[in-house]
Amino acid sequence: MTQFSTATGDLPASVAPATIAALAAELRHSHPDLVLSDDPRECARLSRDFHDYSPVLVPLLQGRTAQLVAHATSVEQVRAVAGACARHGVPLTLRGAGTGNYGQCVPLAGGVVLALAGLNRLRHLESGSGVVTVEAGCLLADLDQQLAASGRALRLAPSTYRTATIGGFLAGGSGGIGSMRWGFLRDPGQLLGLEVVTVEPEPRLLQLDATASAPLNHAYGTNGILTAVQMATCEAVSWQQMVVGFARWEEALAAAQALPATAFLLNALCLMEAPVAARMPWPGGCPPPGAGEHRLLLLAAPDCLSVLPHWLEAHGGSLCWQASQAESRGLPLRELMWNHTTLHWRGHEPDWTYLQLLLPRPEAPCLEGLRRRWGEELLWHLEAVRQDGEQRLACLPLLRWRGEERLQELIDDCRELGAFLFNPHVITVEDGGLGVIDADQVAAKQAYDPNGLLNPGKLRGWPARAGSGGRS
Ligand code: FAD
Repeated sequence: MTQFSTATGDLPASVAPATIAALAAELRHSHPDLVLSDDPRECARLSRDFHDYSPVLVPLLQGRTAQLVAHATSVEQVRAVAGACARHGVPLTLRGAGTGNYGQCVPLAGGVVLALAGLNRLRHLESGSGVVTVEAGCLLADLDQQLAASGRALRLAPSTYRTATIGGFLAGGSGGIGSMRWGFLRDPGQLLGLEVVTVEPEPRLLQLDATASAPLNHAYGTNGILTAVQMATCEAVSWQQMVVGFARWEEALAAAQALPATAFLLNALCLMEAPVAARMPWPGGCPPPGAGEHRLLLLAAPDCLSVLPHWLEAHGGSLCWQASQAESRGLPLRELMWNHTTLHWRGHEPDWTYLQLLLPRPEAPCLEGLRRRWGEELLWHLEAVRQDGEQRLACLPLLRWRGEERLQELIDDCRELGAFLFNPHVITVEDGGLGVIDADQVAAKQAYDPNGLLNPGKLRGWPARAGSGGRS
């Protein structure tokens, strides 16, 4: 028995065209400066993300398309769209840059997609604390560049740093570059406040403190429209990219386990086994790996440079390439890590997919157990993270696709061997996370989206509630 969600079957794929036309006419009249489009190609384009890494999600989400797209550039326009959707009872799905992997911004019930990339101003950077307030559609790279002018930086960023928005990262992402120092986005202390527009006939503009903001963090835009976020930042460091080759996997794994416990300041650590490394597009100047060479990718502070290469050599590795992240041209090393590894691998092998695991400690028995059972059908790349204050190894193994039953068998094997799974082949917030309904997320939806119009079908806890305006 597989566990993959088929919840889309419960939702009508579209709204009556006359209702959409009336909503659009109302918005064109009240906000002539708001850019709207009902062009089918534009609606289809802005209803897609990167869920095609999952052969389970592709058929599930096929044909689910917006009927109208609105491009907001101001909070006032966001309120206008939210109010119009509430008055006409039309589903509303929010979109940052559309780089999510679980179909988070695919509108399951048609209606309106509200694109927020035009809402992108940095509002305030507190010089003493480094606390930043920024509009939700700001691209992470643009934000980081503005922070750098004051010696500050984002603590966490997905490997899609150059293309993703801060609002989309908060609502749909979890961590990535920086997670080995700073943990994950939902860890207390990252998100300090939110500005939120509610979906009601007369939408409210709310300023939420850190506690009230928490239920909207990683809720796939199901329980409020984020118009601005307030986040903690960290000191900017001129990260050095290092690529290290290992002939023996055991030594490479031991180095990856030991490095987070040293005093070297690292912002990312990714370990790829040889077949994966062989298929990566290495940055200009970095030699391709030799036969059977495993590779460790590091972002290290400049003060590591005199000692770290010797440490690595003593642990069986040899430095193949090093370049400053700020100064090197072409592909940054960060775009070989996290789900970018999957992206590049699938460029060669489109019939492969992936999983997301937190490995048990020690990691080797689980990795060896899975290798014995799955052989070359499962290939490893590991990422260092801090989980609940402990240094751990997460991984996004690559998997040859052989159907849902085999995928379920692998998931069962991973769990049996002690790994914790974050399933990327499901569409709800809960199924992709801890598997349980978060009552605070559901309560926030009741408070800020009482008619259940935001991103229908993505919050499993909402339809489970009877008699409160939720769809059943
Ligand atoms: P979108 O995909 O547009 O939206 C994501 C979710 O947020 C949707 O549910 C949407 O409705 C909601 N949303 C968007 N804006 C708002 C708003 N203003 N208010 C409320 N809800 C909103 N993720 C990681 O966490 N770490 C990684 O390292 C990582 N690497 C990736 C690598 C590749 C190659 C790819 C394709 C994806 C990767 N991702 C990763 C997933 C994704 O890129 C990130 O989560 C990214 O931050 C999403 O931002 P976005 O602007 O594209 O959001």
